[in-house]
Amino acid sequence: MAENNLSATGNFIHNYINKDLEGILNKIHTRFPPEPNGYLHIGHAKSICLNFGLADLYGGVCNLRFDDTNPAKEDNEYVQSIIEDIKWLGFDWQNRLFFASDYFDIFYDCAIKLIKKGKAYVCELTADEIKEYRGTLNQPGKDSPYRERSIEENLDLFERMKNGEFSDGSKTLRAKIDMASSNINMRDPVIYRIARIYHHNTKNKWCIYPMYDFAHPLEDAIEKITHSICTMEFEDHRPLYDWFINECEFESKPRQIEFAKLQLSRTIMGKRYMKELVESGEVDGWDDPRLATISGIRRRGYTPQAIRNFCEKIGVSKANSIVDINLLEHCVRDDLKLKSKVVMAVLNPLKVVITNYPEDKIEKLTLENNPEVVEMGKHQVTFSREIFIEHDDFMENAPKKFHRLTMGQEVRLKGAYFIKCEEVIKDEDGNIIELHCTYDPQTKSGSGFNQRKVKGTIHWISAKDFVNASIRIYDYLLLEDGEKNPNTLKVIDNCKIESSIQNVQLGEKFQFMRNGYFTLDSKYTSENNLVFNKIVGLKSSYSK
Ligand code: ATP
Ligand code: MG
Repeated sequence: MAENNLSATGNFIHNYINKDLEGILNKIHTRFPPEPNGYLHIGHAKSICLNFGLADLYGGVCNLRFDDTNPAKEDNEYVQSIIEDIKWLGFDWQNRLFFASDYFDIFYDCAIKLIKKGKAYVCELTADEIKEYRGTLNQPGKDSPYRERSIEENLDLFERMKNGEFSDGSKTLRAKIDMASSNINMRDPVIYRIARIYHHNTKNKWCIYPMYDFAHPLEDAIEKITHSICTMEFEDHRPLYDWFINECEFESKPRQIEFAKLQLSRTIMGKRYMKELVESGEVDGWDDPRLATISGIRRRGYTPQAIRNFCEKIGVSKANSIVDINLLEHCVRDDLKLKSKVVMAVLNPLKVVITNYPEDKIEKLTLENNPEVVEMGKHQVTFSREIFIEHDDFMENAPKKFHRLTMGQEVRLKGAYFIKCEEVIKDEDGNIIELHCTYDPQTKSGSGFNQRKVKGTIHWISAKDFVNASIRIYDYLLLEDGEKNPNTLKVIDNCKIESSIQNVQLGEKFQFMRNGYFTLDSKYTSENNLVFNKIVGLKSSYSK
């Protein structure tokens, strides 16, 4: 994929790979290893772009591997959503779809091998005791009293663990490494636990499950991954990763490389926190357009290209930093700008009667579909005596700098005429409910009229020809100070949109003139009710 050409920027991972390719390695092999315990988010997109992008760049391959070794939190719904999201992002694992649970027999054999080498033992300390024996950063750990069991006894007990003879949590299998290691991860980590949990793939076959630190390096080695790219929190686990691969005597020796996770301002990431929002009902499912899940931003109207561009722009490094959500929005805008049809939509309608325009007359006026892309063609809109404009585009007592409609000041109606406000109609409470204006027939757009100029152009909708829609406008989940934002959704009903969008399709993106980018909401739109999501405004919301 040319767009993901990482060599253009070059990063520390390329340096490793380039060096490895100078040696005996002739093809790289990466993987993206999600745990199916939630939906993917934009942070995962960074890892996906990186792993699939590297394979592309170096002519290697990339596996999609579900790291499904912890059945308590996993579910097939997540497997399906992850597959859909990666496809949507535009990446292809071809026939390289794997499940760690398919290797459970191999993991078991590896554990036996470790026991036979005197490198693993069955321990009967409780979880709390294990923690206590582990020591701290400043204090070495203590050997478990079960550490010196004979190989025969360990083999017998481990087999009986597998056969279901012991209760959940009553025994563990631990690697026998070094309780005094300065790296706590090396202090005899647990590698198998007893847990009678149904697994979405292996069903009830197993009552013992391998721990992540043991399973993950083996998965990589089994699949002959050359570069196992993970996030910084695994840096201290790397010696253990290498230990398992060496002690289990795999020929293939994947190299683990860590990079910094993506963090984004103004949003909540991390599956655990997102899950809380979903389960508490604070958001409307994993695909809520306010969430930074891939399915949420897809429903919101973000494009795969925009996300890939974003991932390329942020680059890869080892330093943690928070990326401004503005950069993501910039990428979305940038991608939509030349792809979306521009139409007029009035969100908060104010009726305008053009008193000198004939009552039964209707004109068809022509607007460009996208002023920046001539090839996108043109479309027609209806003009009539009664129109709607945005409430905000009129001000009765306006300051000098107000270049929209006000008393006695002309403004251009986009693609139509100059109008001037003559009279303001108010209800009993003094709210403006209607304007009476006059138009100048000479000023028709495209007629070459140049005797007067106006400072502003506003959009409008004919009251004779429009469609009604609801519009959903989202705000960030977090306020600038990091507190939860209590008002993240505004729904506006009875918005008026030009009728050229009548046959709008799901997935189609529009620019609503002078406002922002919009797309139909896949969940709330029905045959007789159009519901649009605001994807992003035309300008950064920070600079407003
Ligand atoms: P979370 O922290 O959101 O729960 P996770 O790391 O537990 O995510 P996994 O399914 O284990 O999620 O991750 C799959 C891959 O995606 C891993 O290689 C992980 O390092 C990477 N990944 C997860 N979050 C991010 C992030 N914010 N930025 C970059 N990569 C990420
Ligand atoms: Mg995880």
